[in-house]
Amino acid sequence: MSSERTTVDLHLHYYPDKISRYQEANPESLDPETERLIGKIAGSDVKFVGILGRTVAGTSEIINQIRKRLETHGVKAIFGMEYHSLLPENLRHLTQNGFVDLVCFDFDHDSPVIQEEFGLNSTKLNARIVKEYLEKLNQLGFNLTPQTDQQNDSLKRLKEGQVANKADLLTLLILELSNQNKDAITSLEQRYGPITDVDKRNNGFTPKKNWLYRLLFKPPSGLASFYFQKQPDLLTKLIHEANGIVLYSPEEKFSPEIMNYLLSLGIDGVMGWHGGKLEDLPTSWIKTLRKAGKLILGGSDFDPVKDDWQPGVGKGTMYLSNRRGKELTKYLKKKKT
Ligand SMILES: [Zn+2]
Repeated sequence: MSSERTTVDLHLHYYPDKISRYQEANPESLDPETERLIGKIAGSDVKFVGILGRTVAGTSEIINQIRKRLETHGVKAIFGMEYHSLLPENLRHLTQNGFVDLVCFDFDHDSPVIQEEFGLNSTKLNARIVKEYLEKLNQLGFNLTPQTDQQNDSLKRLKEGQVANKADLLTLLILELSNQNKDAITSLEQRYGPITDVDKRNNGFTPKKNWLYRLLFKPPSGLASFYFQKQPDLLTKLIHEANGIVLYSPEEKFSPEIMNYLLSLGIDGVMGWHGGKLEDLPTSWIKTLRKAGKLILGGSDFDPVKDDWQPGVGKGTMYLSNRRGKELTKYLKKKKT
């Protein structure tokens, strides 16, 4: 461990849902990936970390467990979530697939609203998404009337919210019922094209399944997936009501139009550094944001599952001064008084 910790990293990932599943069989312990995250942080120069779930919020029990472990290495931790938010229609052309990444920190993880919308016990959420998928598929002309007991059972489990990989199962079901869905499938193919190399990747599914899944559930044609992603206005409202903060995370290219839109919603700042490929923020914007009292933070985007971009340094060149951590602490303190 370094004796002088000089840097902060406010963009690291953890998987609270995996931890929760792991703890069912191994109470009180953390899964190997979280252990790796802690080990990597402990071996770096970082003294203040921001740890984010991917569209999932942990519970205070889980985050306190990780926080305590990091404290033994002299590292302070703050927790939150990165959310892939769907832009309003007039701004969707500004990003590759119409979404913008938002980084949320320090909201009350145990708030009933947060747990209902982003929490680990997502039966209700799964059921709601399936309901919306089925409505949308129905509008697109699909007929999911089951023909076997097994199909009936699958559909029942989906509707009850018992299935995590809902879109996979629905796609497989449609393929099994392809006789009664010929017209709907053909019409999708006419609009969006046939199977491509992308669909032939080796992921345990057939190219046909990958193709149909892509057209149904992935942007830009995946209409159904737009139905449950919260737009930035609603997300910002929910996070602010739970006493948290929201930052725009441009990742590749900073967009002034998106920044202006998000500022109009009252967001708290921008993630101006990234471990990968983000271009430097325009100086004029740095000045404007600082003057308005907004935060400019950043981090590596280290993910223990992918293991690229190391904590504190990203690809090797990122450096975030301790000052960014102090600014964040001060901002949060001020917000809560
Ligand atoms: Zn990230």
